[in-house]
Amino acid sequence: MTSSIELLRPELREFVAYAAGSPRRGVLRLHANESSWRAAWDETDDGLNRYPDPRPAALLEALAALYSVPAEAVLATRGSDDAIDLLVRAFCRAGEDAVLVCPPTFGMYSVAARLQGAAIVEVPLKRDFALDAPAVATAATGRSNVKLVFLCSPNNPTGNTIAPATVARLCRTLQGRSVVVVDEAYIEFAAFEGLASRLAALPNLVLLRTLSKAWGLAGARIGAILAAPELVTALRGLAPPYPLPSLAVEAALRRLQPAELAGARRRTAGVVRRREQLAATLRSLPEVKRVWPSEGNFLLVRFADASRAMSACEAAGILVRDFSSQPRLRGCLRITVGTAAENRRLLRALGRLGGATRGRANG
Ligand SMILES: *Cc1c(COP(=O)(O)O)cnc(C)c1O
Repeated sequence: MTSSIELLRPELREFVAYAAGSPRRGVLRLHANESSWRAAWDETDDGLNRYPDPRPAALLEALAALYSVPAEAVLATRGSDDAIDLLVRAFCRAGEDAVLVCPPTFGMYSVAARLQGAAIVEVPLKRDFALDAPAVATAATGRSNVKLVFLCSPNNPTGNTIAPATVARLCRTLQGRSVVVVDEAYIEFAAFEGLASRLAALPNLVLLRTLSKAWGLAGARIGAILAAPELVTALRGLAPPYPLPSLAVEAALRRLQPAELAGARRRTAGVVRRREQLAATLRSLPEVKRVWPSEGNFLLVRFADASRAMSACEAAGILVRDFSSQPRLRGCLRITVGTAAENRRLLRALGRLGGATRGRANG
């Protein structure tokens, strides 16, 4: 089966990457114009005076183990935002090609497309926020220039997932035409494992994963593209020569130690439990019109008066995300699930809205 490298921008297929200096340590490094002096406070293994390893094998192995894929199928990126940008630049010719997105969804797909000068084809989610897979297939096959189809599962901000069989069918329909990118930033909070096990059978499937959410490392900016090994190799050649700062790599390696992973998994299970409790309590508030079921670490909540709810949160020193001016999301705020104490504080702030005393947190 062919992978998706034929869909890359034609002028990039023979791209010659910048040759980064060797990462070897324990030799006299006079080849990279680095400084010879390491700061006294520098506690990194390799020294911040040295360029980072362009391809940190230990991190790639750890990510491959985490996602149960071969290391050759992993490209480590500076978070998913970097991955989205790299994919759009690699596949879309400015002024010619397009990406397909299914709003309401994560905004970065369209931002990256606009930056690259790629067109944006929108196939809105259905009324219940389910993916309109037949409409996606029709829109992507009805024109020759849709190079990337961005799907988000669980979807930000609506919280619902896409059935794996639906994605698989779409990949087969679009094989040879479009790459199907499934952003699984929140999959650790969902009821199923995600699509990594399907990669080998679906050559035009690309997955985005991140350490920013369930693994608690948003500040380190570490994400991953999971894809066919040929595509990973091609994309690596298009990425900057030193994509990952050594501080970030070392933080990720610490985080991916078995004991640390076990702790993070327990915390993720706790977030899922508190998400359900918070949803139930929010539904009991008179000001709340609707709380959508969520498989992420957040809830989409429709309020009778979203701007009043925003003000109540602001007055209590709580930030939540306002989506109320976006199509289909009238009255909606997106609220991240916090600790039990954080959720109680949120509910206290919202409880004052209607002057009601109901809605005590139980999480
Ligand atoms: C938060 C989020 C990400 C993660 O982005 P990073 O750049 O990895 O921090 C990716 N996709 C979606 C839909 C998100 O909400």
